[in-house]
Amino acid sequence: MRSVQCPRCKVKFEIPEALGEADKAALLELLRGPQFIRAMGWLMEHHHTGLGNAKALLMHVPREEGLCVYCNRELLDEGETICPVCNALNFNW
Ligand SMILES: [Zn+2]
Ligand SMILES: [Zn+2]
Repeated sequence: MRSVQCPRCKVKFEIPEALGEADKAALLELLRGPQFIRAMGWLMEHHHTGLGNAKALLMHVPREEGLCVYCNRELLDEGETICPVCNALNFNW
């Protein structure tokens, strides 16, 4: 597990070590479903993370590819990146 903290909402959570590209793709498919609850369940089941952690993590995965989870502006980088406008942590997978 690797701990991260969002500079904007200050929430701390952990990224499961084993979360690979295939896992991210599966999560995105659920998340953009819009199946947030199922995506949380999937994460908890496959990566043994608690409800609060799964929720915090998924709150930082853009529903729309490339757009910040908070302010909807365009993100500059792929993967783990900080929004240039509102400073929120995003997992732009
Ligand atoms: Zn945040
Ligand atoms: Zn933003």
